[in-house]
Formats: sequence, C-alpha cells, structure tokens
Amino acid sequence: MFKLLKTVIKTGEATVRYPFAPLPVSPGFRGKPEYDPTQCIACGACTIACPANALSMATDVEQGTRTWELFLGRCIFCARCEEVCPTRAIALSPEFELAVGNKADLYQRATFTLTACRSCQRPFAPSKEIDYAMALLVHSGLEADAVAEQRAHFETCPECKRHQSIPDSDKLTLGQTTTKGGAL
Ligand code: SF4
Ligand code: SF4
Repeated sequence: MFKLLKTVIKTGEATVRYPFAPLPVSPGFRGKPEYDPTQCIACGACTIACPANALSMATDVEQGTRTWELFLGRCIFCARCEEVCPTRAIALSPEFELAVGNKADLYQRATFTLTACRSCQRPFAPSKEIDYAMALLVHSGLEADAVAEQRAHFETCPECKRHQSIPDSDKLTLGQTTTKGGAL
C-alpha cells in the first residue's frame, strides 16, 4: 500500500483538469469555423467546397437578397471553407465546446443585398462581390477611374451581356465561307 502511494505521488497528475481549467489545444487544431460577415462577399466558394453540406446559400429574387448559412451540426471541421475563401471571412478556430441547448443555436446566417442587372433589372450578384471584383482590378494596377467607368458592365448580368454581344442574325452574311455545292 505504501509503495503504491509512493508511486502515485511520484507520478503526479496523470490527467488534465478540464473542465475545471481551460484545455490548451495543439497548434493547427481544427475547431469551430469562425465567420466574419463584414469580410464576406457572398461569393459562394465555401458553399461549393464544403463536403458535408454544412454551408449553403439561398437566393431570394423577390427580396433581392442572398443568405449565407452555416449549420454546425453538419460540420466535419475539414477546413475546406478556409482554404477557398478569397477574403479570409471564414477560418477554423481552436473553439471545441460546441454543445448547445437549442438546435437553432447551431445555425449562423448572414444576408446580402444583390445588385439588379442594369438591363433586365433581375437581381443577379451580391453587391459586395461586384465591389470586390472592381477593387481587385484597381489593386492589380488599373486606373481607378478606368475601372469605375466599367461599373455598368459589371452590373449587367451574364445573360444580358451575352444577348448584347450577339449581333442581329439578319445583318450577317453567312455565305462567304461556303463553296458552291460544298457542305454548309
Ligand atoms: S470546416 Fe469543412 S465541413 Fe465545416 S463548414 Fe468548413 S468546409 Fe464545411
Ligand atoms: S468563400 Fe468566403 S467570401 Fe465567399 S461566401 Fe464563403 S465566407 Fe463568404
């Protein structure tokens, strides 16, 4: 008995004091994704990359909004969202105490305004994403005024741009490249 006590005292504490004391985690520990909506441009890259479908986006054309959503109950802490986010709006933290009393507390949402297409008026892209794309061009060395002049182009939806770039077919002469009797 005395020998056992001696061994116990010599060994000291073999367990951690958590939850009575904070538990330090290893460097690079992948815990709860921390999200900063002010930094997010609602590009949707993280929602495409998320393998567990913990991240999603829903567009409300009537309201002209897009809502980003994280459901922690599905997160597998893989960090794909952190890898693909262009603005560092989401990153995994050391936080691992995720228990909640209400399932609704496992959701995080942010709603963004969509820009309406200048041509068809349909909301099509988050305003912050358009601003970010223009800011990137300035950052890459283009003149700010020249980029600002392109705002109408940035605020036109892809479908309208495509229509605008297709000339009227009755103004085209299609026979120039065919030979008599040759295949059309
Ligand atoms: S850590 Fe992985 S599973 Fe969790 S939200 Fe990010 S991409 Fe999805
Ligand atoms: S990838 Fe980043 S910026 Fe894009 S929607 Fe996700 S959190 Fe927002």
